Amino acid sequence: MSKRNPNALRPTGCAPRTAMFCALTALVATWIAADVHHGLPRAFSQEAQPAPNNQPPKNQPPKNQPPKNQPPKKQPPVEQVPGDKGDLPQFEIIPDGPAAPDAEKPDAEKPDAKKPDAKKPVPPKGQPAPKPTKPEKRGKGTFQPLPEDPNLPAGTCPMCLGTTFVPHAKRVPYVHVENDRAPPIAMVIPWQFCPQCSAERDPQELVDQEQARLANAGATHLEWEKRMGMKLVRVETRHNALHCQMTPDVARRQGEASEAAIAYIQASTKSCFLTPLRPSTHEFLYLWDKATYTKSIGICRNIDEFKGGEDWHLYPQLACFNGGLTTVGNAAEGKQAPPEHLVISQVAVWNIGHATNGRAKHWLRIGFAYHTEYAVKNKVLMEYVKYQLNETRLGPNWANEARKMAGEGKLVRWRDLFDSDLQAWNPPHHVTAFATVTFLMRSDPVRFAKMNVLIRGGATAQEAIEKIYGRPIDQMEALFQKWVANSA
Ligand SMILES: [Zn+2]
Repeated sequence: MSKRNPNALRPTGCAPRTAMFCALTALVATWIAADVHHGLPRAFSQEAQPAPNNQPPKNQPPKNQPPKNQPPKKQPPVEQVPGDKGDLPQFEIIPDGPAAPDAEKPDAEKPDAKKPDAKKPVPPKGQPAPKPTKPEKRGKGTFQPLPEDPNLPAGTCPMCLGTTFVPHAKRVPYVHVENDRAPPIAMVIPWQFCPQCSAERDPQELVDQEQARLANAGATHLEWEKRMGMKLVRVETRHNALHCQMTPDVARRQGEASEAAIAYIQASTKSCFLTPLRPSTHEFLYLWDKATYTKSIGICRNIDEFKGGEDWHLYPQLACFNGGLTTVGNAAEGKQAPPEHLVISQVAVWNIGHATNGRAKHWLRIGFAYHTEYAVKNKVLMEYVKYQLNETRLGPNWANEARKMAGEGKLVRWRDLFDSDLQAWNPPHHVTAFATVTFLMRSDPVRFAKMNVLIRGGATAQEAIEKIYGRPIDQMEALFQKWVANSA
C-alpha cells in the first residue's frame, strides 16, 4: 500500500493488523428508541423532543449554532491557527425522511409516491443541483501557504495534514443510485490535490484513479445480492458504497446522509484527514426488516471479514454489526430510528478509526460518532455497546443530557474516560464522550483534526490535547466542565 494514500489506510491481508482493526471496529449500535420497543417510552416522554420518526421543523437553526453549544468566546486556542478564522461553516440540519410509506414494503415493490422512477441524482433540499465540473485546478496565488505547525510531526504539511489532498473548494453532494445516469467523472472525485505540498500533481491522476476504480465498482454489489439471494439497490457516494434493501428513494436518502456527514467533517476541519474512506474501503449492507437482517447474521458468520466479530449473540438485537470492510445495518423498517442516523454514525466511526490507524480509543471514536450525528441531525439516536446491552436511558438531545449531568456532577473525569473501555461504560461515559468531542470540535475543529494526527502517531489523548490546544489538561478540562454547565 502506498503511504499517505487514504485509500490504502485500511489494513488488509496482514493478519495481526486486521485482527487489531476488527477488535476495534466490532462495536455495534443500538437505538435509543429501542426503549419504546421494550415498553420504556422514554425517548418520547422528553419534553418537546419529536419522536424519532418526526421531521424536525424546517426552520431549525443551523447546526453549528445550537443555542447552547457555543464554547465561551475566549476559550480558545492559545495561539491563532493560521488560516482558521474561528468561524464554523453553516450547516442545515438534514431533516429525517418520511419513513412511514416505505415501512410497509421493504423492497422496490411499492412504487414511491413522490419519485416513481427516480432516474437522476437529486440533491438534498437547499443544495444546488450538482453540476459537472472539471477537476479543480488551483492556480498559484489563489491560496495562502500555511506556516509549518511545530506541534505536528516534522515535515507534516499544515494544509492537508499529510494526506496530499484537501476538500473541494465548492463541494456538492454526490449520490449515485443504480440506474441513474452515469455521473460525470469529476463528480466522483472526492478531493483535490493539496496546493501547498502537491501543487505539481496533475489532477488527471485523480480522474484516472476513479476510472480504474469504477471499472470494477459493481462487483461487491453483485456478490451481496448473491449471498443474500435478493435484489438490492446500490448507492455510491464519494466515501462509501451502500447495498440497500430499500426503495431507490429511501436508499438515496442514505447516500445523502453519508454525504452530509462527510461534508460536515471536511468543511469544519478544513481537511480530508478525518475522511479517508472510499466506496472501495467502506461498504454498507443496509437491510430493511429484522428477518432479513437476522438472516444476514448467519450468512456473515462464514465470511472472512466478519470472523473477528465478538458479539454474535447480541447482533440480532442491534442496529448493526461490522466486519473489516462492511457495516451490516438493520433499519428495523424505520420504526426504531430514521435509517439515516445509523449511516451518519457509522460514517463517523469508520472514518476516524481509519484516519487514526485504529489508535483512536473509544471515547474519541464513539464520541465523534455521537458528535457527528448530533451535528448533522440535531439528535443522538445511535448508542454503541460492546459484549452486553447496557441499560442506558437517554433522551435524543444529548446537549441537554450533558448539561444535566454537569449540574449533578456526573460527568466522567477525563483521566477516567480516556482509557476506558466501552464495555464498562455507563450513561455518563457515553454523554461525556459526546460532550468532550463536541467541546474540542466547537472550540477549534482544525485543531481537532491535528489532535488526531498526533493520536495516529501514538500520542495519548492528554499529550495530543495539551500540545495541539496549547493548554495543560487540567485547564482544558476545567474549561470543558464550565462550558458544558453553562451551555444552557
Ligand atoms: Zn499538503
